[in-house]
Amino acid sequence: MKGKYFIADQEDIDSKLASDVYFSRTSQFISENDGKKVIAEITASSDEMINFTGLEEMIRLLEGKKISLRAIPEGTVIQTRDSAGIPIPFVTIEGIYESIMEYETSLLGFICQSSGISTQAMKFYMQIYPKEFVSFGIRRMHPAISPMIDRAAFIGGASGVSGILGGELTSTVPVGTMPHSIAIIMGEKKAWEYVYRNSPPGRRTLLIDTFGDEKTKALEIAEMFPETDYIRLDTHSSRRGNFPSIVREVRWELDLRGYRNIKIMVSGGLKLDQIAELKTAGAELFGVGTSIASAKPVDFAMDIVKVGDIPISKKGKYSGSKDVLKCPECGNVRVLPIGVELECHGPMKSLLNEMIHDGKRTSKPETAIEIRSRSVGNALKNIQQNNN
Ligand SMILES: [Zn+2]
Repeated sequence: MKGKYFIADQEDIDSKLASDVYFSRTSQFISENDGKKVIAEITASSDEMINFTGLEEMIRLLEGKKISLRAIPEGTVIQTRDSAGIPIPFVTIEGIYESIMEYETSLLGFICQSSGISTQAMKFYMQIYPKEFVSFGIRRMHPAISPMIDRAAFIGGASGVSGILGGELTSTVPVGTMPHSIAIIMGEKKAWEYVYRNSPPGRRTLLIDTFGDEKTKALEIAEMFPETDYIRLDTHSSRRGNFPSIVREVRWELDLRGYRNIKIMVSGGLKLDQIAELKTAGAELFGVGTSIASAKPVDFAMDIVKVGDIPISKKGKYSGSKDVLKCPECGNVRVLPIGVELECHGPMKSLLNEMIHDGKRTSKPETAIEIRSRSVGNALKNIQQNNN
């Protein structure tokens, strides 16, 4: 490992160094005796609804290797098992095993962590909709992976991300309000004035709880800066008591004085189970950080399911080459041996798209915005189904 920080750089990943050692210790044995084509597939052990992301980095790592790859597109919201309980292959890789074995650690790492974050972001999206949330979580995570975290949170449903690199990766203007520090150093009123004058209309967000009471400060801001778009409540946990009640009271006092235009943003350690109550109380924008960025990874694993022409797998796994079919009408998903067709409300369609063929990339990279629109579309369908 070289460099100043404790991270694997791109070269380390490409040259198989960011891998578990048991692969490199046995790769010599494989390369002397191999030459057999295998099919390996990636499935999750859990049974949960996920928002699948991280694939783009996997494709970038495997492009040019002697393999072909089929996968479910990023941003697909899907149960990890089909309607009969069979684990869904999210990715299938066909090629000489030697050409992929030492990348397994990195390949799984890309999709496990990213999918965990996008799945958690989707859960917040479904709770918060039709209101919006922004991702503020990179400050609790290692900076080297902050763009990945922001991308996954954005695809999962965040309207914006706080990181400069995350903004670049998602082609969005990064979002932010104002730090408590400028109110402490410059004085609250001067700090508000600076932020108010220097923020574009629609994004004038003033942090109100550095020193004083939320209600008093909200009214002070409303009188001084009546065109404020959002006041942000980031109330410290030691003062929080009942956060929804504080929001409700501030909303009441603003409305009573005709400041309906000033909306309330909340942030500060927000958990998924607090959202509904805060929304009812009148919060209209949510800054969500660690709850999304530190999401539990999806437990994907990679397994060989076919060697040469022989279907074979370890116990607990389903052997053979497979397809994942979905009924466009009812959304029923089934995993079947490849080539087997099935009718549900009409012919079912494969969810696995070929993305690499014999080392050559065959799919056009999608932008984060394109992937997010698939993801959010899928999530909205779930919201509608839950409401029906
Ligand atoms: Zn159907």
